[in-house]
Amino acid sequence: MVKIGKSTINPTKIMCLGRNYLDHIKETNTHVPTEPIFFVKTLNTLITDNEPIIYPKILYESEVYNRVDHEVELAFTIFQTCKNVSAEVAFDYIQGYTIFLDMTARIMQKSDRNLNLPWYRSKNFDSFGPIEPRIVPCSEISDPHNLSIQLKVNGQTRQFSNTKHMLFKIPQILEYLSKFVTLKRGDIIATGTPSGISPIQPGDILEASIEKIGTITHEVILEQI
Ligand code: MG
Repeated sequence: MVKIGKSTINPTKIMCLGRNYLDHIKETNTHVPTEPIFFVKTLNTLITDNEPIIYPKILYESEVYNRVDHEVELAFTIFQTCKNVSAEVAFDYIQGYTIFLDMTARIMQKSDRNLNLPWYRSKNFDSFGPIEPRIVPCSEISDPHNLSIQLKVNGQTRQFSNTKHMLFKIPQILEYLSKFVTLKRGDIIATGTPSGISPIQPGDILEASIEKIGTITHEVILEQI
């Protein structure tokens, strides 16, 4: 069992979907995917319960890479070990839903993408995965594809959308992903972010909210070395 903050969640991995909202694809000048695009976030990214988001000093002091963005996302967690799940029975394998923040070193990500390198380093700084650890069970959310989702910075709304705009829906996501990977109880799958991504700074307060789940609040602080 992995203790994260004051809470206990126990993922073996965090899988994230990229480019799953049309308005976000437009704002990033990227292409609409024909198949789901996944990348991995590692467990060192997870923080909970108001722990601060650490703005990496190496980014803050860089003249090239000094931009970190918020991406609010609906995440679901796995109920039981599964592989090759068909979309028709996908919800039998889902434990519930939560709020996830896919923090991203944006310029580093673009630079790596242009060099055909993985997105690994831009997504996996310590604390780049704030999460609400209390999972809302499927029984309490009858339709995960109709939830308002928003992100505020210092009280100002930056992202505001609805999960109905997801291009790939949760059953398709699980069917596709489980063709390649065995998923285990507690694993986290983040479903992509809508438009409105914007850079954050040390001192900012981020509030990420999803209807029927709640709100998580995290302050951004500069890394002290
Ligand atoms: Mg994302």
